Amino acid sequence: MSTQVAPAVTGPSVTVKTVGVVGGGTMGNGIAQAFATSGFDVELVDVSPAFVERAMATIGKNLDRVAKKQGWPADQAPAFLKRIRGGVSLEAAGGCQLVVEAVSEDFALKPQVFETLDRVVPAGSVLASNTSSISITEIAAVTKRPDKVIGMHFMNPVPVMTLVEIIRGLATSDATYALTEDLTKRLGKTPVEVNDYPGFVINRILMPMINEAAYALMEGVASREAIDTVMKLGANHPMGPLALADMVGLDVCLSIMEVLHQGLGDSKYRPCPLLRKMVRAGYLGRKSGRGFYEYPAG
Ligand code: NAD
Repeated sequence: MSTQVAPAVTGPSVTVKTVGVVGGGTMGNGIAQAFATSGFDVELVDVSPAFVERAMATIGKNLDRVAKKQGWPADQAPAFLKRIRGGVSLEAAGGCQLVVEAVSEDFALKPQVFETLDRVVPAGSVLASNTSSISITEIAAVTKRPDKVIGMHFMNPVPVMTLVEIIRGLATSDATYALTEDLTKRLGKTPVEVNDYPGFVINRILMPMINEAAYALMEGVASREAIDTVMKLGANHPMGPLALADMVGLDVCLSIMEVLHQGLGDSKYRPCPLLRKMVRAGYLGRKSGRGFYEYPAG
């Protein structure tokens, strides 16, 4: 007779205390804030001291706003901010058990960042990417730990939006998935498991809708206001697809449509010629002052 010991529960092999966030832009500063307010220490890395300062200032302002709204004690927001250390070297991620990469969506840049992270971050740590459209499997393949590479696709604005798409690359292990899912819940967010296909789920469905709205406008089916009103009142969407495209950025929408078109090879994903023309004209949406709508400065 053999006395069997119960097998250890398959799960996280690391305890996460310090999280690295690489890139302190729109998404990175929100991700850093979310971890800091959930009890983690954060190492935030960007390319220059000015960018790091900008990220810290944004987080400080956002924390003050939440503090006022939720009536935090006076020392709470500064205490959360103190949990975040800013720097310009990826070496700072050397003490992190999880690193979330949120650098610009550049197909050449992400593999470079992951190669460096793979060198400087301990072998047992998990490397996550917040990419909207680059293959997690491909990013993982440049590292020596593809089983510990995963997608953590936060939504914008991060402190407000509760969804995180957790994307499993081909080699992502169950333990890495379990750890990431657990961490997402500890941020007060809802993890949803998704496999690595172009656009994942959110952009596979959202971007073709925006693209179709651009086709409807181009073909004169209805005016921009009419298209947005139909989707707001008829489908109960909080905002119309054209207004949403202006918020996301028309260049970002076009680039994701190109990823879907190329990656899935189906003509149903072809980018709308009007969308392409507007991007060529520099009509990028809110950020350029003009997209499907006009946004006069001030
Ligand atoms: P952003 O341009 O606002 O910020 C990118 C930041 O990365 C910048 O501060 C830049 O200086 C920094 N950076 C560039 N190279 C770097 C490097 N080598 N090391 C460290 N920092 C570097 O971009 P964003 O909108 O925050 O997008 C970041 C990622 O999040 C992208 O992969 C994007 O696809 C994804 N994403 C964006 C949104 C969105 O709505 N903006 C939503 C979901 C996911």
